[in-house]
Amino acid sequence: MNFEAQRQHIVELCIHLSLRGYFAGTGGNIMLRIDAEHVAVTPSAMDYFAMGPADVCVLRLSNLEKVSGDQTPTVEASLHAQVLRARPDVGCSIHTHQPVASACALLGRELAVPPEFRATLGTRVPVAGYAPSGSSWLSSKLARQITSDVNAYLMLNHGILCCGRDSAGAMQAVDDLERLASAHLRLRIAERAALDPALGPALWRVTDALDRITHS
Ligand SMILES: [Zn+2]
Repeated sequence: MNFEAQRQHIVELCIHLSLRGYFAGTGGNIMLRIDAEHVAVTPSAMDYFAMGPADVCVLRLSNLEKVSGDQTPTVEASLHAQVLRARPDVGCSIHTHQPVASACALLGRELAVPPEFRATLGTRVPVAGYAPSGSSWLSSKLARQITSDVNAYLMLNHGILCCGRDSAGAMQAVDDLERLASAHLRLRIAERAALDPALGPALWRVTDALDRITHS
């Protein structure tokens, strides 16, 4: 049971997410379903550009016991496991601190999802309450929000989690959530500028920064 292809796939996903600016440093992690019993996860605190397939951990989904891998699994393994256990239709879960959606996670408000994003994000983007990274408290707060019609979650004052039928679906959800979050922030900035025109120049500088982040 080597699961070489799935390990290599995780390495490639991490590099892609790092190049997109969604993984910064060692922040962010992935769980990929291998079969009915096993999942592959990113290792804890590792530079993704230095990571190789042997560093990816294979765990038993039921109890998160390590089956193979040279490193310690991500501290967020239980967070992802909540999603994959509750959603047999989900093959991949990604947690990031991507800049724009994480800004929305600071606001702590659920996002409505327009029709063009529902195939990837689901019907809405709820907020899971804050708890320290890697804690069972955090994974239980996320677990309370998991439903079969939601593929994207804001994690209060922390980041986001997206899932999909496979890695392509989860990656698309990560991208779409960043676009949705950008549109949401733009709308709120425009509303604020309309209420207080004196703030306009400062607020439009924020809009310019959003443009640079989401179109880079
Ligand atoms: Zn995190």
